[in-house]
Amino acid sequence: MKSTIQRPFAMPSSVSRPVVTPLMPAVVYASDSPDQLDQQYNGDAFGYTYAREGHPNADVVAKTIAAMEGCENGIMTGSGMAAVTAAVLGLCKSGDHVLGGAQLYGRSLRLLNEDLPRLGMETSLVDPTDAGAVLSGLQPNTRMILLETVSNPTLRVADLEGIAAVCKERGILLVVDNTFTTPSMIKPFDYGADIVIHSVTKLLAGHADVTLGWVGAKNGELEDKMRVFAVTTGMTASPFDCWLAERGLASFGLRFARSQESAAVLADWLADQDIVERVLYPARPDHPDHNRTMGLMKGQGGNIISFTLKGGRDSANAFATAASGVAFAPTLGDVGTTLSHAASSSHRVMAPEAREAQGITEGFFRVSVGLEDPAALIDTFTAGLNAASKV
Ligand SMILES: *Cc1c(COP(=O)(O)O)cnc(C)c1O
Repeated sequence: MKSTIQRPFAMPSSVSRPVVTPLMPAVVYASDSPDQLDQQYNGDAFGYTYAREGHPNADVVAKTIAAMEGCENGIMTGSGMAAVTAAVLGLCKSGDHVLGGAQLYGRSLRLLNEDLPRLGMETSLVDPTDAGAVLSGLQPNTRMILLETVSNPTLRVADLEGIAAVCKERGILLVVDNTFTTPSMIKPFDYGADIVIHSVTKLLAGHADVTLGWVGAKNGELEDKMRVFAVTTGMTASPFDCWLAERGLASFGLRFARSQESAAVLADWLADQDIVERVLYPARPDHPDHNRTMGLMKGQGGNIISFTLKGGRDSANAFATAASGVAFAPTLGDVGTTLSHAASSSHRVMAPEAREAQGITEGFFRVSVGLEDPAALIDTFTAGLNAASKV
């Protein structure tokens, strides 16, 4: 029987081109000859070989994010944590010291606290809102500083300019996880970051249906080291996820602007409610880092609000259950508003006293504002707060 399998694929001839990037799930790419393959590996001809090494859907979306951040290419990884890992393990070695911001994303903290020491690296944490504290936290072997511009979940704003100056003077790599802030709020390369990271899973892809990361550098040598490490350790992103992320990115600017506008309205409304003890929103004048928000982020507060309800866990339970119009789910950056509760999720393993010292009490919630009509959001929050008041 004649085989019906056609290999390699030949594009049907068409003088016109698709307006949308085709999804290209191929694992391997066929070359014409050993000579051509040699040229590909030598870099004399460009051609894909094997999807773990690179594929068109990853390159298209990586370049889109790179253009937003202000670099050339960047690398797509299978998750945001893979991007963090590619930066740290791709660029540091045993004996190096890595200094991290004290309120990093939970898994980044775990990487620094547990895994890097196991691999022979030293790590410590420092308050990133204070460049003086960062300076005192340096060691002779400090190779890298990892921070987030706005920390999770208390939304403190790092002294990026002060820390970048320290890094430049000492030749230390500055790595900024820009997931929360996105290039709409700040472009860390403009402030001297060497490496920028995204959990594309969150705001950039934006629809809570993709797990993906991006890491980029302006310096090609640094980027190549991270790329080789990511390819070797199999951090590669799936073509389908990259394709979905590209689609999400097409509306990122509009989504972010809308969510941020609604977040500012909701933050002010929450601050007026009797049962709300405290609202943290970087653009509000009562935020501890308001001045830095005005400077670094030109007054933009982003789409994330944190607030503290009066009362303990019972009040928090009543609120989350009655505010059923928003998903109680530990993520951020979705088209729909999501609500998370640090004490029962990201910070659950922390001792309650240590948690409370950071202001993370049982009544503490983080809201990632989505695209809903702000009036509808306020209705949902009203129902939640009313239920909490009755506890
Ligand atoms: C979610 C998140 C990550 C991890 O991203 P994943 O895609 O879930 O692996 C890293 N940093 C920050 C700030 C995040 O919010």
